[in-house]
Amino acid sequence: MNDTFEQFRLSGKLPSPSGVGMRILKLTQSDDFSTEEIGQAIMADSALTGRLLKLANSAQSGSVRQITTVAEATTRLGISTVRNLALGLSLISENRAGTCDAFDYDRYWATSLARAVAAQVLSTQTRVGVPAEMYILGLLSEVGILALASVYPERFSEHIPDVKGRTPQEIAALERKLFEIDHHNVAACMLEEWGLPEAFQGAVKKYEYLELGPRSELGSQVEILRAADLIAELLVADEFTTPARWRAFDRELRWLMQASELEEEAFFALCRSIVGEWREWGQVLHIPTQKPADLENLEDEAVKAERRGLDENAPRPRHKLEEDPTGSAKVVEPEFEGDGGGTHILIVDDDPLSLKVLERHLVRAGYRVSTAKDGNEALEVVLRSAPQMVIADWMMPGMNGIDLCASLRRIESGRKIYFLLVTGENEDENVVRAFDAGVDDYLHKPLNPKILLARVKGGKRIIDLQRQVEKDQQVQRRHVAELQLLTRKLRTAALTDALTGLPNRRYAMRRLSQVWESTQRTGNPLSIIMIDIDHFKSVNDEHGHDAGDVVLKETAKAMREAMREEEDICRIGGEEFLIICINTDIDGARVAAERIRKRIETNLIKWGSFHRPVTLSLGISQKVDGMESYDELLKESDQAVYLAKASGRNRVCSSAEVPTDKRRTG
Ligand code: GH3
Ligand code: MG
Ligand code: MG
Repeated sequence: MNDTFEQFRLSGKLPSPSGVGMRILKLTQSDDFSTEEIGQAIMADSALTGRLLKLANSAQSGSVRQITTVAEATTRLGISTVRNLALGLSLISENRAGTCDAFDYDRYWATSLARAVAAQVLSTQTRVGVPAEMYILGLLSEVGILALASVYPERFSEHIPDVKGRTPQEIAALERKLFEIDHHNVAACMLEEWGLPEAFQGAVKKYEYLELGPRSELGSQVEILRAADLIAELLVADEFTTPARWRAFDRELRWLMQASELEEEAFFALCRSIVGEWREWGQVLHIPTQKPADLENLEDEAVKAERRGLDENAPRPRHKLEEDPTGSAKVVEPEFEGDGGGTHILIVDDDPLSLKVLERHLVRAGYRVSTAKDGNEALEVVLRSAPQMVIADWMMPGMNGIDLCASLRRIESGRKIYFLLVTGENEDENVVRAFDAGVDDYLHKPLNPKILLARVKGGKRIIDLQRQVEKDQQVQRRHVAELQLLTRKLRTAALTDALTGLPNRRYAMRRLSQVWESTQRTGNPLSIIMIDIDHFKSVNDEHGHDAGDVVLKETAKAMREAMREEEDICRIGGEEFLIICINTDIDGARVAAERIRKRIETNLIKWGSFHRPVTLSLGISQKVDGMESYDELLKESDQAVYLAKASGRNRVCSSAEVPTDKRRTG
């Protein structure tokens, strides 16, 4: 490991995952961790669990059933992916803010999240890499910058203005001068330390230097990451983005469209799905996002930016992005300075002049103000726009202040409103009546602005506290519900094979039965591939049982990597595996089987004295009319495996090739 990075590490200021994340990290760094231990560590943090399940579900194709437990997520995604996700998500929760003043943490995470989502969607689309892993890669690819800002907050703050408009190469050189290491290398070291796949390190070192052009492709992890980075930058672009940059975005996005080999309409639909997921994830992780520019008309943005004119040297204000509580795009609220912080107050008075004066004081103090001229109008405003505080004059024609308060206390949306009553000079003895009606506080006329604002501020404090309590309760309730669900589901026996991390026989049979049932209904094709490693016994005999185990693990891993998302692979016996290919006929199954066979025959495995690839015999069969149960399907693929063995091994045979007299029945 790099010396400078070693110093960084010793500084104790590097961004690091939460306690749970650390525990998962430690567990997986020892050799004999179990899937259950990881599952338990993750479940100790229910928020993490929820996020992980969401990602597990979004990372798989729609045809598959919802994942509801950590164990299931592990079965579907593999233990290493689940571990990496847990790590990445816990890292966010620990490093949402930090000590570097000039560093815009919100923007950093918003961009990283956009890159993560884009990488995942592009990976699913192009079938390059494992989507959930690409999410993590996208999320963490710039973690070196976060690290530099955390270890050297002051020096980094000074350095921020200097990087403006520079190429990635220049920025890296600048960083090496200042920090003796650039952010790519810091990131690579951190990923290494966290035990993430080696390929990640190569990708984070390279992707920023990859130039997009008309010949760009989307055939490797680095290219996917570069493309995701472009989209991420585009999603956070704003009125501080220069016309030249908008034009470059436009060009680069078109190149990306070519590389994706999608029609224009499909490509922009893909982009929109990235935006949607980004905003949704923003909510889940409390990372602010924004409604991005219209990606199909970036030239318009360039023109707008030109018209606006831009001071190239003006610093970008922070906290420009918004946390989106509804998920739908909405306008950014104006910023309120001062004590008010945008708290919404309704003022009610029949005297227009008093109303004006009061409004001016409150607006100046940073409150958002609505007005009403009597009790009836006030009720309408409450129902329409739910203010958090009402300041009402007592004496008004029609419905007076006290009646208004009593009416509010009778409706759901009025019960929590902080109510401040403005009383006349001689009404003190009646104040008790006001409190009976549900008033929270009162003020004397004539209003002294200082006292008014002090009382309003006191009210705001109560409103804020109340809101916090509600939020906490909500989180608490959600956690309890999540945990209940998880404990219930987790009682079901483990469905994972401990050696390879693949789903086990039990899972395979359940899944096959499910898929069988659903194809009975839909009539969609269904095929399976049965796989047996050739001469596996000799591996054990000649190199020892441990070598045999390693061969099993490595072969399982390589098979997984060679598979598509709609193919489910399970270990159903010692060196026997089953792949369930939904919506796939026998020709499709043959293609898949060949892909796996070829991958394995060239997959060199080294362990102790063992030093060669192994080969597979694969039997394929398809569900046909007249088959009574999935047992028949299994039997046919089993016979096809025998045929493959008998015909010389390392080949794919189909049940249709099995001679009728060789077909075993019963
Ligand atoms: P063939 O090409 O005909 O399939 O030959 P083979 O040697 O693979 O045939 P066989 O099915 O007889 O051998 C399977 C061997 O797999 C026997 C068993 O000892 C070994 N085995 C089963 N489970 C495990 C395991 O978990 N670890 C190890 N190391 N070996 C296992
Ligand atoms: Mg066997
Ligand atoms: Mg065998």
